[in-house]
Amino acid sequence: MDQKFFDIDPRLEKLGEQAQLDCAPAFARTEEIGEYNSRKVLAAFIHNGVSESHFAGSTGYGYDDRGRETLEAVMAEITGSEDALVRHHFVSGTHTLTTALFGVLRPGDVMLSITGLPYDTIQPVIGIRGENCGSLKEFGIEYRQVNLLPDGTPDIEAISEAVRDPRVKVAYVQRSRGYSLRPSINMTMMEQLIRAVRQNNPKVIFMVDNCYGIFTEKLEPTQLGADLIVGSLIKNAGGGIARTGGYIAGRRDLIEQCAYRLTTPGQGKEIGCTLGELRNMFLGLFLAPNVVCNAVKTAIFAASLFERLGFRVTPSCRDRRTDIIQSIELGSEKGLVAFCKGIQRGAPVDSFVVPEPWDMPGYENKVVMAAGAFHLGASIELSADGPIREPYAAWMQGGLTYFTGKTGLLLAAQTMLEDGVLSLEN
Ligand SMILES: *Cc1c(COP(=O)(O)O)cnc(C)c1O
Repeated sequence: MDQKFFDIDPRLEKLGEQAQLDCAPAFARTEEIGEYNSRKVLAAFIHNGVSESHFAGSTGYGYDDRGRETLEAVMAEITGSEDALVRHHFVSGTHTLTTALFGVLRPGDVMLSITGLPYDTIQPVIGIRGENCGSLKEFGIEYRQVNLLPDGTPDIEAISEAVRDPRVKVAYVQRSRGYSLRPSINMTMMEQLIRAVRQNNPKVIFMVDNCYGIFTEKLEPTQLGADLIVGSLIKNAGGGIARTGGYIAGRRDLIEQCAYRLTTPGQGKEIGCTLGELRNMFLGLFLAPNVVCNAVKTAIFAASLFERLGFRVTPSCRDRRTDIIQSIELGSEKGLVAFCKGIQRGAPVDSFVVPEPWDMPGYENKVVMAAGAFHLGASIELSADGPIREPYAAWMQGGLTYFTGKTGLLLAAQTMLEDGVLSLEN
């Protein structure tokens, strides 16, 4: 490149180019998935006759909002579902999951998590942590959990046993590893889980926390028989354009129940104005397969570069992926902080901010985060964080474009070099 723009050590640039060459097979697979999903989305836009008039938006109650109805029909088609809710009224992924859980569970029912302890923010929703906050537990819904095996994979035998109890109403799967080091649930494993659950209790609602997962593979869990999938629009499905919101897709009767919870019993999907958000949601969904492809490529490059630099990474640059998450074990507090500082230096927004470890409500250890995004907290944009504890792992995700994601990672390594936590001698 003629223009440097950034002061990156030439040795690092060279390592970066070598690391990128090693990614070729994984990039080819990722791009094939990106192309497949881009066509899938384009076809759904065309089949549903998406039109300029659908972007107008409604106000007040939002009756007969054709844009909203079309967007939801598009999402249903993309995910192979009977129906969907795609709304900016969902304030976060956690809120969307909360709506789905409260939508379908009733007092006396059992929610069974079959992939171990759910993501941090879901725990107070269930009633595992926190008191008097209106959790499922306080409404008489019992929670049970099948732990993962020591290697981090689901315990199919124990799941088959636990799901037989007729009180089990929901079997809950978290597709992405979140901030753990277990493997994520790819669609091969998802199919096995669905089969094991169906064989032992055909009535159970199979619900998937699909956050970080959508568009990373050709099929979504609903196309393998899951009843509901749930995710956020400031992660994969919003394509970096949707300003807020979430989606639920799946069986028509269940989507109706979720809609009664989101709005009101009786009104459900028929209300909810879209204001000026529809164009962003349509455009974001249209771009999402390509953006997710870039985020996955950024994660693969991160794995390749940091493996070359001598760090433990999961998954590796060769592994098949089912989410956009990459963890890198940086080995020391200084290393983790320098990594996050470097990611922040490469952000298009707030690049001048210097992240520092701080006490976050609800977390045992201090946490350091890098986030410089167009949408506050959007983790489809390049971002990284990690708790200040062994093994000082950073979880990074996102990258609206591979080129800028790659630059951010080189700046992370450069900052580690400058802070004396990386040596390029051997
Ligand atoms: C991000 C995430 C959530 C929660 O979404 P928020 O938008 O942060 O509330 C839940 N589950 C998983 C697996 C996630 O990655």
